[in-house]
Amino acid sequence: MTAMSAEELAALFKSWGEPAFRATQLRDFVFRQGVASYEQVTNLSKELRQRLSREAPLYELAPVETSAGDEATKWLWRAGDGALIESVQIRAPERVTSCLSSQVGCAMGCAFCATGSSGFERNLQAHEIVEQYLQMWGRSTTRSSHVVFMGMGEPLLNYDAVLAAVRTLNSPPPQGAGIAARRITLSTIGIVPGILRLATEKLQVELAVSLHAPDEETRGQLIPAAKRYPIRDIMAAVEEFSRRARRLVTYEYVLLAGVNDSPEQAGELIGLLQTHPCKANLIPFNPVAGCAYQRPALKDQERFKAILEKAHIPTTIRYSKGGSIDAACGQLRRRVAGTT
Ligand code: SF4
Repeated sequence: MTAMSAEELAALFKSWGEPAFRATQLRDFVFRQGVASYEQVTNLSKELRQRLSREAPLYELAPVETSAGDEATKWLWRAGDGALIESVQIRAPERVTSCLSSQVGCAMGCAFCATGSSGFERNLQAHEIVEQYLQMWGRSTTRSSHVVFMGMGEPLLNYDAVLAAVRTLNSPPPQGAGIAARRITLSTIGIVPGILRLATEKLQVELAVSLHAPDEETRGQLIPAAKRYPIRDIMAAVEEFSRRARRLVTYEYVLLAGVNDSPEQAGELIGLLQTHPCKANLIPFNPVAGCAYQRPALKDQERFKAILEKAHIPTTIRYSKGGSIDAACGQLRRRVAGTT
């Protein structure tokens, strides 16, 4: 059902002899209540719900496995073509966040990422992205207040489907889930054309840019596919986005011991970030099986943060909330698919 537009659903109901407003009722219920199955859509008759289950299934993604911890639950879904997709719901006292995938696998090949080492399969369709949000809501009975595109894939390389999904998540019921655009974050490794295009959208979404290193050589080792976009071009595109969208951009920086965590690299980073309003989010590396990188010692993490803060760059250190649930993107999928 989520794969159908409002018009297609209304046409289906009409072909069954049902009034068009019933289709609106269904969409409104699903986007307002968060349901796991048609059985929970109590404003439709039992007969209609049974027919819908047979002829227009509510969701296409089938749950394969769930991995739950105190602060996060990770789901693995199987799409209609067998593709495996991961999503995570992260619970903090002040917010609940759905971390969504935008692609099956990823072509960026980040050296520290389980998804990157598994390669790229295909783009997700808009409804497959929206479904991750709705299904996590329906199955956990917890509605996420925020959405981040930080799961599998590079969202700006699946631009049209991701933006269509963002518009559905942002639109009020019955068109969508009614999440404020400012609570939706697109995270990119720096796809310059995508950032420039996003700057022209009339959407107040947040942008997070995964920089991970202040110099081309280190960055090229960590994100091989990002060599296409020099850091200076990324910074120019981000400044354009920041100016047009009037948004504060977040820079994500995974801290790897002895690779990108030195005081000199913090100084270089300041040179890049000082030119526009932004904040930095430092992410101490979460170990991935088969990956040689190490998490820096706490004192080195704090030294890096203090250097940025001394230069008046708001900086936080974000710790993964899912070490015990294969929370680094791609880990659960790799384990279930048997590729580790
Ligand atoms: S970190 Fe993100 S961009 Fe890099 S390979 Fe993993 S999914 Fe792709």
